[in-house]
Amino acid sequence: MSYDNENIFAKIIRGEFDCIKVYEDENTIAFMDIMPQADGHTLVIAKESAETLPDLSDAGAAACIKTVKKIVEAVKTAMGVSAATVMQLNGAGAGQSVPHIHFHVIPGSILGARPHAREMEDQDKLKGFAEKIITALG
Ligand code: 5GP
Repeated sequence: MSYDNENIFAKIIRGEFDCIKVYEDENTIAFMDIMPQADGHTLVIAKESAETLPDLSDAGAAACIKTVKKIVEAVKTAMGVSAATVMQLNGAGAGQSVPHIHFHVIPGSILGARPHAREMEDQDKLKGFAEKIITALG
């Protein structure tokens, strides 16, 4: 299937739609999930136009994992938890709702977490978590 340039994450990459950003480099962006499954739920996206992991170049995948590693550590520190879940859904059949490659970094365990992409979180609360994550990133 061809890549949909109008998906919400493509718009965030182009600066056409806002996000609460915690990190950006040449190849990736990390920002707060607006319908978090746990406090501090952060998304890492590739800037490359790819829908699923197999669509992503090896270099893009390496860049994403490098950022995911940083975010896992920062989220653990920021949220005061000893563990974090990394989740990546491939295709609508797996429950992927935004057709642009991304990794979820969810503080703590996914088991017993809030439902996926269900309830909008208060923006100020998300900004507060983002500040803590930015501080933890150093
Ligand atoms: P997926 O279902 O594709 O694996 O995950 C997409 C994630 O993006 C969901 O967790 C959902 O809450 C989040 N999301 C959907 N729309 C937006 C948005 O406009 N901004 C942000 N920051 N997150 C979004």
